[in-house]
Amino acid sequence: MEATARADEYEHEIPSVMYVVNNIPGPGVNLEDFESEYSLGCSCVAKCSDCSCTRGSPNYINGQILDEKLAGPIIECNSHCNCREACGNRVVQNGPLDSLIVSEVGGKGFGLFTTKSIKKGQFICEYAGEAISIEEARRRVEAHKDSMNYVLVVSEHIGDRIIVTCIDPKYFGNIGRYSNHSCEPNAKLVPIRVEGVVPRLCLFACRCIEIDEEITFNYADGVANSVHDLSDTLCLCGSKNCSGYLPHTSI
Ligand SMILES: [Zn+2]
Ligand SMILES: [Zn+2]
Ligand SMILES: [Zn+2]
Repeated sequence: MEATARADEYEHEIPSVMYVVNNIPGPGVNLEDFESEYSLGCSCVAKCSDCSCTRGSPNYINGQILDEKLAGPIIECNSHCNCREACGNRVVQNGPLDSLIVSEVGGKGFGLFTTKSIKKGQFICEYAGEAISIEEARRRVEAHKDSMNYVLVVSEHIGDRIIVTCIDPKYFGNIGRYSNHSCEPNAKLVPIRVEGVVPRLCLFACRCIEIDEEITFNYADGVANSVHDLSDTLCLCGSKNCSGYLPHTSI
């Protein structure tokens, strides 16, 4: 039995934003790096729970990410693998949940909501946009100082390397760009690689999310090892532990 990929049929209400289902290469990103593929896959015939792709233990059970894998690195099975689409190590490549909607939230602009409840550990959607270099990210943040900037910077420590990924969904993005920050979020951003070396930044529910609940994540989460402090933009998340202002990233 082969699982069929759920198509991403969402679109933007804002005409100036181009809908892209996955990241696209932007300024400062080497096209070869962006398009390069892992040449190695696993040779499993059935389930992929402890193979070279999962690095010894499963990343997901019934499509739900395991707590101990939230810190990554996660590599999903790909076209070089011998396994089938139903191997269990293929989740984000199948596309976003089909229950997401974008609605206006008082005072905050748009927000991301769900019309069906979401289980803890379930994949929600990617935060897709233009993958840009850190220099380009700095330039854009500087150029748009007075307006909202959405550039997300994620640092991963893999072995003794630090890999920095910058995603800007201002001009190109998917439904993930409507997810707002919260100081007490119900989703977490996890970098996941499918076939390319540039990770997809993927939102997973960190607890059960109810119908009509706003889906949020902590914008400062991805920048654990960069310098970040609070910006002068008021945070409207409304949680008990709200720090009052949105995180500001010095990149
Ligand atoms: Zn495998
Ligand atoms: Zn597999
Ligand atoms: Zn594999």
